[in-house]
Amino acid sequence: MKSFQELNVSPELLKAIQELGYTTPSPIQAQALPILLAAAPTDFLGLAATGTGKTAAFAIPLIERLDPTIRAVQSIILCPTRELALQVSKQIDLIGKFKGVQALPIYGGTGYGDQLKGLKRGPAVVVGTPGRVVDHLEKGSLKLDQVELVVLDEADEMISMGFKEDLEFILGKIPPGMCNTWLFSATMSPGVRRVADEYLRNPKQVQVNRTEMLPATLEQIYYSTQESNKPEVLCKLIESADRFYGIIFCQTKSMVVDLTQFLRGKSYPVDCLHGDLDQSARERVMQSFRDKKVKILVCTDVASRGLDVQGITHVLNYSIPREMDSYVHRIGRTARSGQSGFAVSLVTPSQRGLIHRIEKFTQRKMKEGKIPTRKEVGTKKIGNLLEPFRTQVNFARAIELLDPSWKQELTGKPVDEIAGRFLCLLFPEIFAAERAPAAAAAEEGGQRTLSIVRTSIRKNSDSDGGSRPYPSPRRDQDRRGGDFRSGGDSRPGKFGKSRRTFERGPRQH
Ligand code: AMP
Repeated sequence: MKSFQELNVSPELLKAIQELGYTTPSPIQAQALPILLAAAPTDFLGLAATGTGKTAAFAIPLIERLDPTIRAVQSIILCPTRELALQVSKQIDLIGKFKGVQALPIYGGTGYGDQLKGLKRGPAVVVGTPGRVVDHLEKGSLKLDQVELVVLDEADEMISMGFKEDLEFILGKIPPGMCNTWLFSATMSPGVRRVADEYLRNPKQVQVNRTEMLPATLEQIYYSTQESNKPEVLCKLIESADRFYGIIFCQTKSMVVDLTQFLRGKSYPVDCLHGDLDQSARERVMQSFRDKKVKILVCTDVASRGLDVQGITHVLNYSIPREMDSYVHRIGRTARSGQSGFAVSLVTPSQRGLIHRIEKFTQRKMKEGKIPTRKEVGTKKIGNLLEPFRTQVNFARAIELLDPSWKQELTGKPVDEIAGRFLCLLFPEIFAAERAPAAAAAEEGGQRTLSIVRTSIRKNSDSDGGSRPYPSPRRDQDRRGGDFRSGGDSRPGKFGKSRRTFERGPRQH
């Protein structure tokens, strides 16, 4: 494969790419860059999903084409979501750093003030979501008469989210004949085909195979379990992982809210993203996740579009998506840039057929995982304490606080008994099962149902029919004094107090 240098990338951009740590072009970059960097401008159709390096595949040639001294919008990139618009804009800034090119992100859900100021400065590149771009065009604050290059990023998503009319309106504002259009899409849906036929002239086309899209460092595992056991299985998987910094995907907003509450109740560092959060809440959640203050992000597909975070160890499908493309989109968030990653799916026995569909679609085998037993989870948790135990430096101060009754209690007890007693204090939930051998044995078989969940759900749906609105994370946050990560209420059965079951509710994002 050719290097970035051999692909004729300019020294300013090479320096920025080097700083970003990109050593070799990804398959989509290796195929697209020779076409998009060629002297003869062309329209382009790139079939590649998120996670393939497609942003740099269009950002590098786009920046090369711009003249940073001209104070007018020369290029516009349209993205389906605010998160993606922000990410693409940041990536343009990073790659364009030494050429003096900066992008202006414009998206909905936030005020117009900064965007209007930014537009007045005449940015070379605007990265926007279709709705807000239309608003600015209608206000006259955005002019596209000097645009030479349009990028439609994740075009399939924009069309499936109902932005087709907005796209047509925007494309109609660009003077015909002087502009190239580059369209990127994970799939060639009929809607994308129609847009491509209408707006691209003799496009050069590049496609990254599905197998190329999935990195070799990605391991796909599924666990078979009943729906009602999923919360418990999920906790076991999180706790038995060497490291867990991951995204959990649910089908609906209500599922996202319920599962987040449940995990928060267990004191996991968790937060969520879904369509009802306003822009500042989304950004706050994303920042906490990037800073690793939040280690578990629960979200819907749409809320997570284009989400690009480094070092994600797990993508967990709490429920498998109906569309195979969503599956590929989801799992593309882990195992990036040569790092290893796990794509974990929870499937009910009746969904096992989906596993074969996924295997066929991704042309990769999935491994069936064995749900760890409580004992295995306990061994792992205790094992994880070894290093922090070794590296404790303040233990002498703790010893000073032991009063005579403590000393008397410890005297003469074997070391492992002392360790055992402290471990019971630290992890009561691990050892609680040992007190009830029959229940523990049933659970080890993975068959135990969360009776507490079922009972409370029944009770709640009897009492209010499930129609009372579920407390939103924002309101919830307010109740807890503004800290999402305060550990929350760890009373058992919190999850069971859900007013909606995980199975119910319309599909919504
Ligand atoms: P994208 O598909 O554009 O969302 O990119 C996925 C991730 O891959 C982003 O975190 C990029 O920073 C990273 N990336 C893009 N190109 C390369 C490359 N050539 N080498 C290593 N990482 C890359």
